[in-house]
Amino acid sequence: MVLPCRAVMKFGGTSVLGPRGTDRVASVLADSPAGVVAVVSAMAGTTDVLLQGVEAAAAGRPGLEDAAAATRRAHLAAARHLLTGRELEGFVAHLEQVTANYRARGAQLAGSPREANRHLEAAASAGELLSAHLVAAVLRQRGVAAIPVDSAQLLLTDGHPMAATPLISETRERVRGRLLPLLQGGTLPVVTGFRAGTAGGEVTTLGRGGSDHSATLLAQALPAAEVWIWTDVDGILTADPRLVPQARLLPEVSYAEALELSYFGAKVLHRSAVLPAAASGIPIRIKNTMRPEGQGTLIEGRSPGLGRVRAVTQVEKAGLLTLTASPGDGLNRLAGEVFGRFADARITTLLVTQSSAEDTICVAVPAVEVPTARRVLRQTSYLGNLDVQDQVSVVVMVGEAMRGTAGIAGKMFGALGKEGINVIAISQGSSELAVAAVVQRQEVGDAVRALHQVFELGSPGPGGPPQVLR
Ligand code: ADP
Ligand code: ASP
Ligand code: MG
Repeated sequence: MVLPCRAVMKFGGTSVLGPRGTDRVASVLADSPAGVVAVVSAMAGTTDVLLQGVEAAAAGRPGLEDAAAATRRAHLAAARHLLTGRELEGFVAHLEQVTANYRARGAQLAGSPREANRHLEAAASAGELLSAHLVAAVLRQRGVAAIPVDSAQLLLTDGHPMAATPLISETRERVRGRLLPLLQGGTLPVVTGFRAGTAGGEVTTLGRGGSDHSATLLAQALPAAEVWIWTDVDGILTADPRLVPQARLLPEVSYAEALELSYFGAKVLHRSAVLPAAASGIPIRIKNTMRPEGQGTLIEGRSPGLGRVRAVTQVEKAGLLTLTASPGDGLNRLAGEVFGRFADARITTLLVTQSSAEDTICVAVPAVEVPTARRVLRQTSYLGNLDVQDQVSVVVMVGEAMRGTAGIAGKMFGALGKEGINVIAISQGSSELAVAAVVQRQEVGDAVRALHQVFELGSPGPGGPPQVLR
């Protein structure tokens, strides 16, 4: 069967940054074959600025006007470099409208806290509207038929604040109804990332970094043959290059490995993005916008890792909660209650360990979620004592083929011990896809580098020749 969509191509914030970035993105799209759907993030830094502005307004502080002005300035400068005539006029009119809406949302936030989430998410995702319009205008100016599409009307969600869960079948209908006629008519849709909506027409978002998820959701709904994530690194590397400059490209990664890596902090892919692609068997490629000729990483069903740790990753800012059951109440009652409540509050559980003699469990969560976790735990009935260490990191080794390979955890402890790094907690599931350890935050860089070195992740191991791009 020939699919109507050859690829959904998503471009991240650094890819669409400024006139040079936007022009490069337009070149990649203009050089692509027909049947591509583009998804764009806001220009790097824009979402932070927009959020700071509306949060200030909500708190009654100044800052909204500065945020609106900075966003307007950056986009106007890019547009003036890239567009002329009617395309420039059209974009400037759109820019004025988006900026005015942003200000209005901010003003409403100050006045009506009950409506806060609705306005906050619409305002925070205004940058995606601007990038989609700008990229589409640049493409049209180059003679490519392109049209901006607001994903708030396509990707339907349950509306959970800043972490909405998509409603798959409703989304499929809307996506197909809107995008297939465009593709069939030879028009390239440039869709906003990050933004989604409720059936009632309110704007929601898929959470920070969620444009990757937008791309795989669209690919699943269409369906598309592939998803290409264009970013600022060559692909998935053996470690975060900010901590390990000699990290090496992994040409092939399995869905399961990509899921673990993204869940445990590898920012190159949003942690929810893998699931829709894996569920539909759609390959994901990670590519560098600055070096489109590079082979990139191909994420598919298999791992070529043959008995190896493939990568090391970290959640740098984590908190470790140590929970003790109240006297007489069993650990199971406490665990049952805590995890049920954590699920309702959508808290991310990074690691869980149990020490049964003391009726104690340790749970690591991202540091930003510690305040919510504390609030949730205050409502539990079986909790005796709570201790929080909020300056820790979780370091994780990932590799599907570690399964059945003896001695990996021992080697990990040995390497960390040699560096004088104390392991506060450890967890290894029976799937042996990932081994996680909690360390003090100031030691996270040394821990990651030590593991990268001892497992020789910098040198290519067994794993067959890289796949040729289709
Ligand atoms: P985009 O703006 O394109 O969405 P992100 O900043 O969200 O890009 O993700 C890319 C960044 O992810 C890289 O610049 C890199 O610093 C970081 N990163 C963390 N871990 C990894 C890893 N294992 N492989 C590649 N990049 C990683
Ligand atoms: N612009 C959004 C963010 O900064 C979404 C994304 O970039 O994926 O979080
Ligand atoms: Mg990203």
